[in-house]
Amino acid sequence: MNSSILVLNAGSSSIKFSLFLAAAGDALELLLRGQMSGLGGAAHFEASDAQGKPVARRHWPAGESPDHGNALAFLLEFLREHTQQHALSAVGHRVVHGGLSFAAPVYVTEAILSELEALVPLAPLHQPHNLAPIRILSERMPTVAQVACFDTAFHRHQPEIAQRYALPREITDAGIRAYGFHGLSYEYVAAALPQIDLEAAHGRAAVLHLGNGASMCALLGGRSIATTMGFTALDGLPMGTRCGSLDPGVLLYLLQQHGMSVSELEQMLYRRSGLLGVSGLASDMRELLEADTPGAKLAVELFVYRIGRELGSLAAALGGLDALVFTAGIGENSAPIRARVCAAAAWLGVELDAEANAANQANARRISTGASATSAWVIPTNEELMIARHTRAVLHRR
Ligand code: ADP
Repeated sequence: MNSSILVLNAGSSSIKFSLFLAAAGDALELLLRGQMSGLGGAAHFEASDAQGKPVARRHWPAGESPDHGNALAFLLEFLREHTQQHALSAVGHRVVHGGLSFAAPVYVTEAILSELEALVPLAPLHQPHNLAPIRILSERMPTVAQVACFDTAFHRHQPEIAQRYALPREITDAGIRAYGFHGLSYEYVAAALPQIDLEAAHGRAAVLHLGNGASMCALLGGRSIATTMGFTALDGLPMGTRCGSLDPGVLLYLLQQHGMSVSELEQMLYRRSGLLGVSGLASDMRELLEADTPGAKLAVELFVYRIGRELGSLAAALGGLDALVFTAGIGENSAPIRARVCAAAAWLGVELDAEANAANQANARRISTGASATSAWVIPTNEELMIARHTRAVLHRR
C-alpha cells in the first residue's frame, strides 16, 4: 500500500490542506488540496485534485458551522473516503514560530508540543491555531506521526548581528530578537534555484515573497543572512493590512497621546494598515491595480517604494546582488509590480525583459534581459511541498 503525507496549515478561521503521495525515491505527488474556510462564521469546504479540478464542496450556514475540532474530523473523514488505497503515514504542520530552539523541523512528541505551546506569547495571533490540530490529532490518531515545520527556522542560522536589536542585553536574552518569517517559502526557492540558475543559487540573491503577507530575504549561497520581518510578522514591507516597519515612537505616542488601548493598537497595526489603510479601499493588490483612485495609486506607490528601499538594505548585507527573485501571489502574478520593482533596482544592475515579464506563464522563468548584470526571476513558491519534504525527511531519520 502506498503511503501519503498530509500537510496542514491551520489559521484562526481556516484549515488549508494538501495531501501528497509519497511515491518511490524522493518523489512527492500532489493528490488533493483544499481548505475549510469561514470557521466561526459560515463555513465552507472545498477540495480539488492536482490539476485544480474541483472534487468536493460543502457549505454550512452560520450557526451550524463546525468548530475547529469538528472541521478537522470532517477533513480526515473526507480524506479517508477519497484515498482509501493510501495509508496516511504522517501529518506535517506549518507552525509560525520555532523560537530560539527550533532551527529545523521536528518530530512532535508530548514534550515538544509543550515546548511549542510555551512559544504562544511570541505569536499569539497564529501559534495557538497552528498547534490546535496537532493536539487534537495526537489524541484522536496517536499512531500517526506528526512533524512541525517552522516559518522562523530557515533564518535561525543568520549571523548573530542580523538577529540582534539594539536593546539592553536582558531584553535580548529574553528572546526579543529578529526571527524572520516566510522561511518555508524561502527555503523552497533556495532549493529550486540550483535547477534554475547556478550563479543565482551560489551567489547573492534577494527573494521577494510578495503576498498578503510580504517580506524579503537575502540569500547567500542559498542560506538566509538577512530578512525584512523581525520579532513579529508586522515588520518590514507594508502588506495587505499590516503596517510594516514603523518608528516605535509612533506606538508610544498613540498609547500616551491618543489614549489608544493595546488591543486597538494591535487591531490597527495588523488589520487596518498597509495597502488597506493607505488606499482606504482594499488590501488586495489586484483590486488596487484596477482601481483608479488617488488612494489606490498611493498605496501601490508606497509598496513599491518600500520594496526598493529594503532591496538596498539587503544588497548592502549581501555586499552586492547577483539575482532578484519574485514569488507568492503578487510576485508570481503581477507583471506591473515586477516591472516597477525592477525599475527601482536598475541601479543594482537589473534590466527587465518586458516581453518575458508580461508572458503569462505559471512556471519558473527569467524576466531580465541576457545583458542584465543582475538577473531577475519569477519562481512560484510551494510551502506545502517544502513541508511534505521535511516531514518525510524527519520520518526517515527516526
Ligand atoms: P497569502 O499571503 O494570503 O498566501 P498570496 O500569496 O495568495 O497571499 O497573495 C495574495 C495577493 O496576491 C493579493 O494581494 C492578490 O491581489 C495578489 N494577486 C494575485 N494575483 C494577482 C494578479 N494577477 N495581479 C496582481 N496581484 C495579484
